[in-house]
Amino acid sequence: MIKINPFESALAQLSKALQFLKLSPAQIERLKNPEKIISVNFPVKMDDGKVKIFHGFRVQHNSALGPYKGGIRFHHQVDMNEVKALAFWMAIKCAVADLPLGGGKGGVEVDPKKLSDHELERLSRGYIQAIWRDIGQDLDVPAPDVNTTPQIMKWMADEFIKLKTQNSLRLHSGQAKLKTKEKEISKLMGTFTGKPLDYGGSEGRTEATGIGGFFVLQALLKKISLKPRNGKELTAAVQGFGNVGFYMAKFLHEAGFRVVALSDSKGAIVVNDMKKDSFNPDLVLKCKKEKGTISGCYCVGSVCDLKNGRPTTNEKLLELPVDILVPSALENQITGDNADRIQAKVIVEMANGPTTPEADRILHKKGVTLVPDVLANSGGVTVSCFEWMQNLAGSHWSGSEVRSKLQKKIESAFSAVWETSREEKTDLRTAAFIVAIKRIIGDK
Ligand code: GLU
Repeated sequence: MIKINPFESALAQLSKALQFLKLSPAQIERLKNPEKIISVNFPVKMDDGKVKIFHGFRVQHNSALGPYKGGIRFHHQVDMNEVKALAFWMAIKCAVADLPLGGGKGGVEVDPKKLSDHELERLSRGYIQAIWRDIGQDLDVPAPDVNTTPQIMKWMADEFIKLKTQNSLRLHSGQAKLKTKEKEISKLMGTFTGKPLDYGGSEGRTEATGIGGFFVLQALLKKISLKPRNGKELTAAVQGFGNVGFYMAKFLHEAGFRVVALSDSKGAIVVNDMKKDSFNPDLVLKCKKEKGTISGCYCVGSVCDLKNGRPTTNEKLLELPVDILVPSALENQITGDNADRIQAKVIVEMANGPTTPEADRILHKKGVTLVPDVLANSGGVTVSCFEWMQNLAGSHWSGSEVRSKLQKKIESAFSAVWETSREEKTDLRTAAFIVAIKRIIGDK
């Protein structure tokens, strides 16, 4: 199999949207190229006393609308092209969501599942020691992404605040020093989002991406008529069972959709009878915690409700005869190789970059409605933006306030994209790019 370069995919998506816009060569170059690429090699002391060097990146793509914003990914396959693509998509995503933020992304090439908790903490702190001069609440605001958690954000924020205050407080002394410290620290908290609730985090951030995707799907279903292909309820297959996939599956299940297939990085499960069975994501999560993987769950029976399921593969999950497919794992899942075999009528991209441009063309021809990542999963960064605003203002919003603000914001993003797709007679991804680019270049 040829490795698909996600940054090339991102540029192909951009080229398509540029056909609808009149931009100068300089504007196009600015959209295509990251403003800054940071590449670091940093040491981490392992539990056996040996020091290992890790490679990390931070790509700052575009800051036209505000500070760079985007997560940090820990994954063994992280590379520069992936981080460049993800940073670019963040710039588009923040603009689609109409946030006062630009786009950035970070990554460390590591399999965090092979590290102890102490090693993970030292890795998180080590990465920040390597990049701290390039981040800040007014400069670049990282967040969680694949395999990074609120706890990791806490370690990173703590390390950042330590480094920052040690440096700036050398200039002050006595009482003044203490006062400066308090004020400075509350603002410095805004350098990271997705933090734990008791450490400057926002209500509603954990489930934000999932609930946002669900709001987008609901808005879409008001526009198109999607009839259940068998049975009374619409069926969904969700690929990926991290924070995003789990919450999306949970909200679908609670709203009466039938969740007929789920997967994690080790395997997948599908219900036995697609006409009536459904998984309960809460019970699947409980089982996964006990067994270590979803695919070990189907036979547990009384412990969870998986007695009606059987194991399958991630590849087969994508091709099931469902109404809605929700890729929530990694890039390049739906490609020229399998797009023709996709049977879902609606795809909601909760992962970043799960569909290649070649697959996009095939799906469009087949009449599939695809809600692009830069809209579908923008609920996460939208609540990150709320967290950043709360930190800067020293305030705390209630859970219901966060949720209603998110719903309003994401529904208006959906409307803008939907209207543009009708006006320009183009697909939703291209429409989302058009909406975003107009905002980035200041031509709303
Ligand atoms: N990693 C998430 C994304 O890809 C969230 C980014 C953020 O909250 O800044 O959208």
